[in-house]
Amino acid sequence: MSGPFIVDAHAHTGAMSMFFCPESGAAELLARMDRLDIQCSLNAGSWTYLMGGGGEELEGLRREHEASGGRLLYLGVYDPRRGREALRELDQACRRPGLAGIKIHPTFHRTPAESPGYEALWRFAEEHDLTVLSHSWSSSEHNPAQALSLPGRFEVWVRRHPGVRLVLAHAGGRGDGRAEAVRLAREHRNVYLDLAGDIFCYRLVESLSGELPPNKLLFGSDFPWLDPRANLSRILLAEIPAEAKRRILRDNAQEAYQLNLSG
Ligand SMILES: [Zn+2]
Repeated sequence: MSGPFIVDAHAHTGAMSMFFCPESGAAELLARMDRLDIQCSLNAGSWTYLMGGGGEELEGLRREHEASGGRLLYLGVYDPRRGREALRELDQACRRPGLAGIKIHPTFHRTPAESPGYEALWRFAEEHDLTVLSHSWSSSEHNPAQALSLPGRFEVWVRRHPGVRLVLAHAGGRGDGRAEAVRLAREHRNVYLDLAGDIFCYRLVESLSGELPPNKLLFGSDFPWLDPRANLSRILLAEIPAEAKRRILRDNAQEAYQLNLSG
């Protein structure tokens, strides 16, 4: 394979107030993609969008998609606290190019993942054949709201909507969350895990690759919080076969998000 081929399955654009990210725009993301052979990135929403923004943020992502020549695909955000409005916006976005799935964030949205507030979203994803990406994490003493996104909480939906592809971002975090995310991905055909975030555990890529079926793990950078080189180098340098690296860097994202990539 020659030329850019990597898919970054989890990035963001826009200012992120919680972290210092001086270079956070679509232009900066594209410049890094060019340097690192990243063919396309999935934009999982701006900070403002994730924290409760709506239609205008979605429209911004769509414009970035257009300006990037299709290299920045994007996910619409479903916040159950404004569920009906969010679905109306997503329904419009479905009719235009660039929408690759829906992002949910039980922790930011202070709504447990199994809450009935998500029912309409799962039905919508099924009807429109859209992938759901959710924040997932382990229990955390200093951030108790992370418990709202424990991987096991999603199982009720996975059982009820087995046709919907679910990507658990950050592979469930650390410890108990990670073990639970691995269990879900092993037991359910349509559950995938992405590597985005700051889980710098020793030999994480090697151990997850060993525990999961080969099609389940996806590369994600979590740009602009993290430089894509951080997670990219961990995959490139991992002691796993080249074939497994290619799957993590491209094929698995293609399958999980049903991407229509050239090349
Ligand atoms: Zn993220």
